[in-house]
Amino acid sequence: MEAHPPQSLHDLGFAGIASALEESGVLAHHAKALWRALHREGRLDLTNPANPFLPPLQRWIDAHVGEGKKYDLDAPEQVDEIRSSDGLTRKFLLRLRDGQTIETVLMGYDGRHTVCVSTQAGCAMGCVFCATGQMGFVRHLRPGEIVAQVLHARRVLKEIHPGKRLRNLVMMGMGEPLHNIDSVMQALDIISDVRGIGIGPSKIAISTVGVVPGIQRMAEENSPYRLAVSLHGSTEEERSALVPASKKWSLEMLIAACRDYGQRTGKRIFFEWTLIDGKNDSPETAHRLAALLDGIDAHINLIPLNPTGGFSGNASKAGHAFQRILREAGFPCTFRQRRGIDVAAGCGMLKADKLRKTPIAVIPETVN
Ligand code: SAH
Ligand code: SF4
Repeated sequence: MEAHPPQSLHDLGFAGIASALEESGVLAHHAKALWRALHREGRLDLTNPANPFLPPLQRWIDAHVGEGKKYDLDAPEQVDEIRSSDGLTRKFLLRLRDGQTIETVLMGYDGRHTVCVSTQAGCAMGCVFCATGQMGFVRHLRPGEIVAQVLHARRVLKEIHPGKRLRNLVMMGMGEPLHNIDSVMQALDIISDVRGIGIGPSKIAISTVGVVPGIQRMAEENSPYRLAVSLHGSTEEERSALVPASKKWSLEMLIAACRDYGQRTGKRIFFEWTLIDGKNDSPETAHRLAALLDGIDAHINLIPLNPTGGFSGNASKAGHAFQRILREAGFPCTFRQRRGIDVAAGCGMLKADKLRKTPIAVIPETVN
């Protein structure tokens, strides 16, 4: 490995780009053109003689960006892709500079296009039903590695549906976003910048397993993004059997943090509930969940389990009774539409497949 790999331009916010230029005596107003090229146009080649920048900026790029120079673009390489049988979902396996691979998903339902991004290589939280959790933690992603996933998905969308915009983003790929909160927030600043990619903050959802300090920070900063909390259990015992991180941040602490978040921000919280046969899908659990969330502006998303290592889920029967109980208690409760995680195999499953070297086939669509 290189001793000092170049820094990715995608890691830099607008102010960072402006000061990188200023450091070499290039006027900061050129930052706009470079930002536009990087994030609005998604250019990967900044040295194309047929499409040059103004001379001072082009000279800076020629001197500073590229192999062996201070900066590069560090675009990940697509090493695999699977599509749902209806063709509406594509999952990409992307290889990063150090050889780590991560998953990114592009979904298009009801005319809306959503990208599901990863925030870490692996995950430290170890949820027992999650293929990523079973791989363990490798490393955090840098902001630019999160931004680059969005650019990749947008490039593919442009090829398959020219003219369609990528308007929504969910952090429901590999990794725990609030365990990597600084890079996640920097990446989201870049992704939501209207001069560039411009995905609206209210169209961005951060999904967390319940990292309480991160939820508290989102509340204190009145973060503009939507919060989704993966709950999966209605008692300490039920939850910690599925989500080991619950031993560190108990259900009681988590619900208190959610209440406080709701009160301070006035925002609705989305609770994710992966239905697992015989573990968390009984009517008693549904009643306890309704009591637990009492007074919180909550929307509950039921996720049919993608079977992994010994766990199975058949959302249909128990799931519908579960849904009915929550609805009767007054909560909006839906089965999650096909999203990154539950479509085209769950989170981490493409990478896990690749590691096992099994051939990747077109997978049947999930029926909700
Ligand atoms: N770490 C974050 C975000 C990534 S996981 C979190 O846990 O919220 C995104 C969602 O996928 C979570 O709700 C998680 O519980 C769910 N998930 C993970 N493995 C799954 C599987 N095998 N089947 C269904 N949902 C799964
Ligand atoms: Fe990590 Fe989320 Fe998977 Fe749990 S469900 S192991 S927090 S990625």
